[in-house]
Amino acid sequence: MSNLEKYDAVIIGAGNGGLTAAATLARGGAKTLLLERHNIPGGCATSFVRGDFEFEVALHQLSGLGTEKNPFIMRKIFNELGVMDKVEFVEEHHLYRMTIKDEFDITLPASWKGIREVLIENFPDEEQGIKDYMLLCERVVLESFMGFKAALKMNSEDMLMKNSKHYAEHGLRSAKSVLDKHFSDEQLKTLLAAYWCYL
Ligand SMILES: Cc1cc2nc3c(=O)[nH]c(=O)nc-3n(C[C@H](O)[C@H](O)[C@H](O)COP(=O)(O)OP(=O)(O)OC[C@H]3O[C@@H](n4cnc5c(N)ncnc54)[C@H](O)[C@@H]3O)c2cc1C
Repeated sequence: MSNLEKYDAVIIGAGNGGLTAAATLARGGAKTLLLERHNIPGGCATSFVRGDFEFEVALHQLSGLGTEKNPFIMRKIFNELGVMDKVEFVEEHHLYRMTIKDEFDITLPASWKGIREVLIENFPDEEQGIKDYMLLCERVVLESFMGFKAALKMNSEDMLMKNSKHYAEHGLRSAKSVLDKHFSDEQLKTLLAAYWCYL
């Protein structure tokens, strides 16, 4: 018997994906081997120290956790993996701040309602576009989590168009075309372009 045959599952790479898969398999009773070529696990979710500073290599904020009262998918996964009480989560109240010298310095709060309000306050002439754009973003996010996954599982274009209409229509459009359709103010487009990639 080769060494690998001793295992039910072999996972290569101990990033978030590999760690989650390995922990899930091991907790389900599979004899699991997780291989990592770096000297620490975590992949993109690690950090390194130079002098007095610690640098994150990638992951800096996490969405999808929800709250204790309104849990979302990530909280469910962490609970199932038995790690929820081993990690200290710090709620972010600001989504991001963008500052461009002599132009603007705007901080967007971490809530749909708060973002809408700050945008309208700073760009009152674009109020209707802001409302339409934010509604579209909410729909695209929700559909990407719900309808799109179901349609993918069933391999059904009909289901995709029925339950994830906005996601299907906008998923492959460039940020520029979506922003141009909603807004004329270039500063507003610049401010919002930073996050369209996440949608
Ligand atoms: C700059 C940046 C910022 C980001 N910011 C965020 C954020 O704020 N919030 C968020 O949710 N996500 C963020 N992400 C995305 C998130 O970090 C990644 O999607 C996630 O960490 C990827 O996990 P992974 O397991 O798929 O891959 P990785 O983390 O890349 O893990 C792959 C692992 O496999 C190992 N490996 C590869 N090949 C082999 C091999 N042949 N043998 C053994 N081991 C191997 C690697 O060493 C690595 O440890 C960001 C990503 C980047 C790059």
